[in-house]
Order: sequence, then structure tokens, then C-alpha cells
Amino acid sequence: MPSIFTKIIKGEIPCYKVAENDDFFAFLDINPNAKGHTLCIPKKEVDKLMDLDEATYMGLMAFSRKVGKAIEQALDCKRVGMTVIGLEVPHVHVHLIPLNNMQDATFQKKVSLTKEEFENIANAIRSKIE
Ligand code: 5GP
Repeated sequence: MPSIFTKIIKGEIPCYKVAENDDFFAFLDINPNAKGHTLCIPKKEVDKLMDLDEATYMGLMAFSRKVGKAIEQALDCKRVGMTVIGLEVPHVHVHLIPLNNMQDATFQKKVSLTKEEFENIANAIRSKIE
């Protein structure tokens, strides 16, 4: 059965898309730690980061860097943190989290956003993608 993220890539489940190329896809996390919390994923569905082939791993890092730089430019944050967990969704994803304090990195505190706020954030990040 395809993962929820494969369904997002295919457009079967809606998302707030930030970036896409032939091999990778980025969209806002629906339950963000902070405004602009973004997930970068390979289109190839693989469960665990360390099981990616090297080219996909390196490509995912390069794609995440591009998206992370756009987040830093678009949003008010001290830096962008990067985390890979994957205990909830078995499809590799890099969390890019705009950080202003340690709590933003902990996955303990969540922020709730309106549809309009999600759209505005996704547009702001998208406009800074090079
Ligand atoms: P992890 O697998 O790394 O523990 O966490 C999965 C992440 O995916 C969570 O931060 C969760 O909020 C996010 N997530 C789960 N389902 C969806 C979804 O349907 N849409 C979006 N945009 N994010 C999701």
C-alpha cells in the first residue's frame, strides 16, 4: 500500500507544496513545531534514511539545503534545523524546522495555523526557491 506521502506526491491527498523536481518533493508539515516546518521527501518510496541508495541520499540533502535556504530567507528564524525521525510515516522525510529556541526542535510544542497561514507560508518559501 502506498504511503501517505506517496499519495501527497500523486495529488491524491492535498498539501501545501513548497518545491518539487523530478526526484524530490517538499511540503509543509500539517502539525508543525514552528511556522514553516517543512518536509522534504524522495519520490522513491523507501522507509528508512539509511536504506536510500547513495545518489538519492545525496540528492535529498542537496534538495533539502535548497529548501532550507529559502526558509531562512522567507521567515523570521535564527536558523533552520534538520531532523530525520520517521517513526510515524514509513517514507523517508527530512524535517526542516525554523528555529528560534530549543523548544522548536523538540516535537513537544506544536503550533496551530489556519489554511490561509499555511498558504501564505508556503507561498513565501516558494518565492525564495532558487
Ligand atoms: P515522523 O515520521 O518523522 O515521526 O513524523 C511524521 C511527520 O509527518 C509529522 O511531523 C506529521 O505531522 C507529518 N504528517 C503526517 N501525516 C501528514 C499529512 O498527511 N500531511 C502532512 N503535510 N504532514 C503529515
